[in-house]
Amino acid sequence: MKDSIKLVRTLFEDLSRTREEEIDCDAVFDVLDVYAEAKTRGEDPSELLPLVQQHFEICPCCREELEALLSILEADLP
Ligand SMILES: [Zn+2]
Repeated sequence: MKDSIKLVRTLFEDLSRTREEEIDCDAVFDVLDVYAEAKTRGEDPSELLPLVQQHFEICPCCREELEALLSILEADLP
């Protein structure tokens, strides 16, 4: 029992730590096309937009948007 309390506490500490430099979904949507285009060109957008990359890791909603956009962009490729 004590261990799980400790675990939850650790999780919350992690959350509050990442929150400081977290960006919200609106900010991600603003750069979603830039991110997707860079990825389509074979670049690594995580270097350019590390916070966006980080957001995709925690937000399934934005990740879905990205995947939808990527499939559109990739369909346009020759
Ligand atoms: Zn999001």
